[in-house]
Amino acid sequence: MKKILGIFLCAGMIMSLAACGGGAKTGTAQEGVLVMATNAEFPPYEYHEGNAIVGIDAEVAAAIADKMGCTLEIEDIAFDSIIPEVSSSKADMGMAGMTVTEDRKQNVDFSVTYATARQVVIVPEGSDIASLDDLEGKTIGVQQGTTGDIYASDDYGDENVERYAKGMEAVQALTQGKIDAVIIDNEPARVFVSENEGLIILDEAYADEEYAIAVRKGNTALLEQINAALNELKADGTLDAIVAKYISAE
Ligand code: GLN
Repeated sequence: MKKILGIFLCAGMIMSLAACGGGAKTGTAQEGVLVMATNAEFPPYEYHEGNAIVGIDAEVAAAIADKMGCTLEIEDIAFDSIIPEVSSSKADMGMAGMTVTEDRKQNVDFSVTYATARQVVIVPEGSDIASLDDLEGKTIGVQQGTTGDIYASDDYGDENVERYAKGMEAVQALTQGKIDAVIIDNEPARVFVSENEGLIILDEAYADEEYAIAVRKGNTALLEQINAALNELKADGTLDAIVAKYISAE
């Protein structure tokens, strides 16, 4: 089910609407609107706060749209629907703490990266799983279609992986003793562990990754604008400031 849950109006949008020409100029499907497909179950990158979708990606996307003179519209869909949505031009970009992978590059083009991340392992306190090797033969929960799902299925066997629609559901299954571990990105892991008693994150990381924004393959007009905006947001400290708002330095 596709829902449109959040609409951010760019500051100065009326003034700059003409700058977001749509079509050939910006490469967006709809004139004046930048449609971002996400899965808002991934704090601190995108999550629900009341009726709004907030988080690092939501704010960075709003800043990009602002620079393009576009209105940002956020579509909240299943994570594994984001790439199809972008490839079929129903959304202009996919931004969802999405890891750049060679496989995904077959279907979409990626912007410059804007974050580094890692896949980590969450286990209950007192678990006999203390390292990646100990995961052999255990039941591992993941969010469907994520790199955690893909890598765990490869390394530990499809039959040992339980897939959930939301990372939080995997974590709940872990607290209920239905599964032995969860593999998920480090920042959502920190949020979920802080919200649930009795869970820890293993020190040994599973995989290092980088996040970027996905656009339709060959949509260079849009990709160039997104890259230019991201590079400006990196250079002027806006990206760091947005990240610092959501992630406390440790
Ligand atoms: N970074 C992971 C991936 O790209 C998970 C992203 C997510 O769940 N939103 O597959």
